[in-house]
This record gives sequence, C-alpha cells and structure tokens, in this order.
Amino acid sequence: MNRDYDYDVIVIGGGHSGCEAALAASRMGCRTLILNHNLDNTALMPCNPAIGGPAKGNLVRELDAMGGEQAKSADFSTLHLRWLNTSKGFAVRTLRAQCDLKDYAAHYGRVLSGVPDLYVYQGMAAELVTDANRVAGVVTVAGEKFRARRVVIASGTYMRGKVHMGLVSFPSGPLGQMPSVTLSDSLIRAGIELSRFRTDTTPRICRNSVDWASLDIQESDPKPEAFSHWSEKRVYTGHYCARTRTSKVTHDILKAALERSPLATREIEVRGPRYCPSLDDKILKFPDKESHPIFLEPVGRDSREIYMQNFSTYMPPDVQRDIIHTLPGCERALMLRPGYGIEYDYVIPTQLEPWLETRAVAGLYCSGQICGTSGYEEAACLGFMAGVNAALSLKGRDPLVLGRDQAYIGVLIDDLTSRGTDEPYRMLPSRCEYRLTMRHDNADRRLTEIGRDLGLIGDERWSAVYNRWRLTEMERERISKVRIAAGDFTNEVLRGVGSAEIDEPVRALDLLKRPEVSWKTLSRLVETELDDESGTWIEIEVKYNGYAEREKRHVRRLSSMEKLKIPPALSYLDIKGLSAEAVDKLTRVMPRTLGQASRVPGVNSVDIQLIQVVIERFRGEESAGVRDGD
Ligand SMILES: Cc1cc2nc3c(=O)[nH]c(=O)nc-3n(C[C@H](O)[C@H](O)[C@H](O)COP(=O)(O)OP(=O)(O)OC[C@H]3O[C@@H](n4cnc5c(N)ncnc54)[C@H](O)[C@@H]3O)c2cc1C
Repeated sequence: MNRDYDYDVIVIGGGHSGCEAALAASRMGCRTLILNHNLDNTALMPCNPAIGGPAKGNLVRELDAMGGEQAKSADFSTLHLRWLNTSKGFAVRTLRAQCDLKDYAAHYGRVLSGVPDLYVYQGMAAELVTDANRVAGVVTVAGEKFRARRVVIASGTYMRGKVHMGLVSFPSGPLGQMPSVTLSDSLIRAGIELSRFRTDTTPRICRNSVDWASLDIQESDPKPEAFSHWSEKRVYTGHYCARTRTSKVTHDILKAALERSPLATREIEVRGPRYCPSLDDKILKFPDKESHPIFLEPVGRDSREIYMQNFSTYMPPDVQRDIIHTLPGCERALMLRPGYGIEYDYVIPTQLEPWLETRAVAGLYCSGQICGTSGYEEAACLGFMAGVNAALSLKGRDPLVLGRDQAYIGVLIDDLTSRGTDEPYRMLPSRCEYRLTMRHDNADRRLTEIGRDLGLIGDERWSAVYNRWRLTEMERERISKVRIAAGDFTNEVLRGVGSAEIDEPVRALDLLKRPEVSWKTLSRLVETELDDESGTWIEIEVKYNGYAEREKRHVRRLSSMEKLKIPPALSYLDIKGLSAEAVDKLTRVMPRTLGQASRVPGVNSVDIQLIQVVIERFRGEESAGVRDGD
C-alpha cells in the first residue's frame, strides 16, 4: 500500500475551516491530509482581512481556549486592533483586528508545516469514494485516488461558484480562484441535498490615491491587547482606518444604474446575507436613507490595497468607479480590483449531526461556509469541531457537542443543525440566550479544560491559565474580606468617577458592584498586585453576578428537557396528534435530544409534550425489559 494515498482523515480545502480541521485532527494523532486545489491560497481571506467583532470575537476566543489557531494567526498579523461595543457593557464587548492578509495566511502555513503527520497536497477533489454509505476516500480531477476513514469537506464558496459583476457572470471561485465543478454532483449522488447562497465583496482602491488628510482617522486602541489567551499583548501603531460616507449623488448614480445590477434585474435569485447587505441591496431596500458610512481599511503592511467596508456591490466596474469618486477623500481614488458577487452550492446543514457528520454518509463531515455560514470565524470554529469529531470517532470516543449554555460555538452548530438557515448564517450576540455568562473574557474558564482533555492544550498553556485563575480566585477571596474605610482620599476617588461618597466602612466588593466603580478605581483604594485583565475579570464577575445566577437557574430548569435523549428508533409518523409539519421537519432533522427537537422550526410546544410522553414510555418499556421490536 502506498502511504502517500492512505490517511486517517482527508480535509478537502485549505481555507480557514480546512486548516483548523486538519490541525485539530492531526494534533489528536490522526494521519491527516489537506487536499487543496491551490496550495497558494491556504487560509486566503477573500474578503476584508478582519477578525473578530461582535459575537465573532467570542468565537475566536472560544476556539483559542480549546487549542485552535485562529487567534494566534490574528495576533501574528494584526495591523490595527480595537475593542468594540465598549459602551454596551462587558457581556458583548469584543476585539476586532484588521490583519495583514499575507501574514495571516503565512502563520497558518508555518503552523501546518510544523505538525507531524499532517500533509498537504495540491489537487482538486472531484468525487467522494463511498462504500455502503460510509466514506472511503476522495478522487481528484487528475484521477488520483486517496483513501481515508474520515473525510471533512471544507470547500467554502467554491462549489459551482459563479461570479457576478453587473450583468456579466462566469464560473469562478472567489478572488479569481478556480471553482470546484464536479464535487457537488458527487455529494448529490451520495444522497446529500445542496442549495445555493450568494455573498459579495467590495472594490479595492489604491492607498496612495486617497486623500487621507480629509477623513476621520481611527487609530488602534492605545492599551496593549491580544486575541489569544497565550499571546503577548501589544499596542499597534502605524496603520489606521478611516471613515467616509455615501451621499445623494452616490445614491443617484446607483439608482440610475440599477438596471445593470443582477440583484435589481433578478438575474440572481439566491439569498445573500441579510445582516451584511451589499450597497445595491441597501439602496433597493432603503431608498429614503440619505447616507451610509463606508470604512477604508488596510489589507496589508506592504500592500497598496485598501478595502472599502460596507461597499460590497454587484454593479459593473464602470459604475463602481463612478461611485467611488463621489465619496469624500476618494475623489481621485484608483480602483485596483472591482467588487463582485459570488453564488455557490452549500450543504443544507439540517442534514448534519450535532457533531457535523452527515447522516447520509457515515464518516463524512462538513465544515465552514459549505454548511451555510459566512465568516472566517464561523468557518474556523466549524473546522475545529469537525476535525476534533473526526478524530474522536476514530478513537472510538463520544463526539464533542458543546451546549448552547457552554459556548457560542454550541449555539452556532445547534442553530445550523436544528434550525437550518435561509441566508448565509453569521454569528450575532442576539442568537445567544446566555450571553451574560458566555463572554469574551471568560472563554478560557469555560473551555480550556475541554481542550486539555482532547490533548490540544499542552502543559505549558494549561499551567499558564491555571495559575492565572488560581491567583485571581485567591485575590477575590482576599478582597472579599477587605472593608474600605470612609475618608477624604476614598471619597475623592469616588467623587472622581461620579460615585456616591461613603461615611462608614464598605466592603470592597460592594463598591465594585457600583456601575461607575471599575477595578482600576478600586485598585486605588485597595492594595493589590493583580494584573489589569484578572482584576477586570473580578469586576465583571461581581457586577454580573445577579444576572449570571439567573441565567444559570434558567439553564438548570431547562437542562432536563435539553438533555432528554430521543431514542433513534422513535418514529414521528407513529406519534398520534403530532402536526404534519412537525413530522416532516423532525424526520428530516432527526434531533438527538428533546431540547434540539424544540428548536426545529415548525415544532410547537404541544408537539414537544407529545414527544416527551412517548420518550417516557420508551424509557419505561426499556427499564421493564421490553426491547425494540418486541
Ligand atoms: C466574495 C466574498 C465576500 C465575503 N464577505 C465576507 C464578509 O463580509 N465577512 C465575513 O466574515 N466573511 C465574508 N466572506 C466569507 C469568508 O470569506 C468565508 O466565510 C470564509 O473564507 C470561509 O472559510 P472556509 O474555510 O469555509 O472556505 P474558503 O475560505 O472559501 O476555503 C475553501 C478552500 O477549499 C478549497 N477547495 C474548494 N473546493 C475544492 C475541491 N473540490 N478540492 C480541493 N480544494 C477545494 C479552496 O481552494 C479553498 O482553499 C466572503 C467571502 C467571499 C467569497
């Protein structure tokens, strides 16, 4: 047997998802191959090279806490870093990094090449090999056949990709890459249902042709920060973003050209991301809005290209040029790449188990944008989970399924596999019902132990976080006993932050409960050597304690229903009183637990009660020794 053609796990695609899937599987001891149609596009960012932002930043931190690589890649390549949502409270504040596109990809490339038993190979996967509904390998367009016991498909926006620029369209992957043509048919033959989505990107303009002096410039935050729990925090200087805006003149040009937009002429009928609409969509849907902000953002340290955030478009290049020249600061801007839209096949995600394996083909996993998502962060998290679960199944271990109360990653996968999605799914804070307890700052406490159990968090990383937690807890315990005396200095400090004065000793933690008293303020009144990050963690825990307890009680109340397993033999058709819609949807999704069933669209509370009764009957029969089919 030729070892070059024989693997435990093959990952199709070397994007954000494919890289994380392959790293997780190989670090867990599997001989792994990334089969990518172009090795030069490894971890390519076809859109804005930005990582993080609301909810997406939480995903990156969670991935990092379990041993994923994206946070490290972002830290390695950051040009500009900011905290977002700072005025909305700690629960939803999160980092956003503008990265150097090439450095980001180079970091992944370096890490991939340093992992033993992880191989990369340039080849376009054309067909899956299956054996009695179990995956057995992949054949490339060049006719090479690779064997594997598990396959992860992470082919992004490439499957039957079609680019649109105005009324012109042609088969293509993103950024001029080749599309993947035959893999879709192979999946359909294997019994997997596909559908189509679209997404879009902005024109890029030349840095030197922008009049930066006339624009509002946004520098990085002045405080050192990092995405990864294990990176050194840094302040980033030398790169900035700037804000410009559209005007009535811009909108008039767009409106006059709408007949040349494939969205207005309905040349493209497939759904795009509602939460991140193109400028064309915005003008069509909100014709009365007079202006939209556009952010000019660097794509690389040494690159001349500037990305135009919020200006993705399907318009022909000449219209794009005219629009650019209406934007303040861009009157003489030179367009380097036109924006475009792309439509592509994706796998309807309700066909996946909560551990991302397809129900149609055992051993076949899907991850990344192919599951109906949009975004580097969503892709990376799905890749990690698919890689981990492929490896766990090879070791005969139970799959890793994160709860909705455990991680944004759990919400992402549960939403996709239980509810499905009718537009490219993007993670948002509002999707997460437990966002007060699942914060950016406590991702390590929630998830590092899981990464350690998987073998993805080594001793050094583990002791770094463990020691940090221990010292923080000891300090919290010590401070909980400290009372702050009333006095001139104390009251001066309190007045300084707009807080009421005290006239008798007050517990330090009670002062910290006040919204206007931060850890920084408290540390002027109490002697402490705790670093700022750990101190802020204590502050958040103290301030959110009441809400967090309420969330935990809610989780405990729901948990019996959430975890109640649905016997695989249960037939929804046989449950009297279940609505026809519920039977249809549940039979498609095949939820594993009653909690998952309750989130399937079209299933109501009466349906859930009926299913619960049947599960209890099953359990009763089981404990009475009655077996299936008796
Ligand atoms: C035009 C455009 C605009 C976007 N806008 C945004 C945005 O505004 N915000 C945002 O967060 N995200 C945006 N995205 C999405 C973001 O780029 C993706 O979500 C992310 O890249 C998906 O990662 P992935 O790993 O799933 O797939 P990709 O990054 O697309 O990687 C897929 C990989 O699979 C390989 N491949 C494909 N088919 C085969 C095959 N048959 N055989 C071998 N290899 C194959 C490719 O070579 C590539 O390496 C946009 C994407 C595009 C294309």
